[in-house]
Amino acid sequence: MLGKSHRLMAAAGAVFLGASPLCVAAAALGATLPDRIEVVGLPHRGISHWPWPWAVAVWSIQTQQTPWSTLVAWWLAGALFHIGADLFTIGGIPLILPNWRIRFGLLRTGGVGEYVVVALTVIAALMQVFHLQIVRAGGS
Ligand SMILES: [Zn+2]
Repeated sequence: MLGKSHRLMAAAGAVFLGASPLCVAAAALGATLPDRIEVVGLPHRGISHWPWPWAVAVWSIQTQQTPWSTLVAWWLAGALFHIGADLFTIGGIPLILPNWRIRFGLLRTGGVGEYVVVALTVIAALMQVFHLQIVRAGGS
């Protein structure tokens, strides 16, 4: 996925999980971390996209239970949203082992499908923010 798609998906994911607006922003900012840490010479979508170290970091920082730790945890959680979104791309991510990529292969980075998924996810997040629901026809 493209960087802007990752930011939007992470923000939407944080909204779905009930994060505060500040934490939603932190998740959006953290959403490009897995690609950005690759500048130190890591292979693309290698260990930088292995979700478990990120998950351990989020969990261990979140358990500190301070306002700053919550914000930092959401920032790092942005990386998990990034990895989760990349799982559905043709490139895939190393889900279980850091050197063994699994790919669901549904979306091509920068393709039409990516834009559609991001747009629908953002619309759903906005509906949640504004407490909108799709009106159910009929029923009692
Ligand atoms: Zn990536």
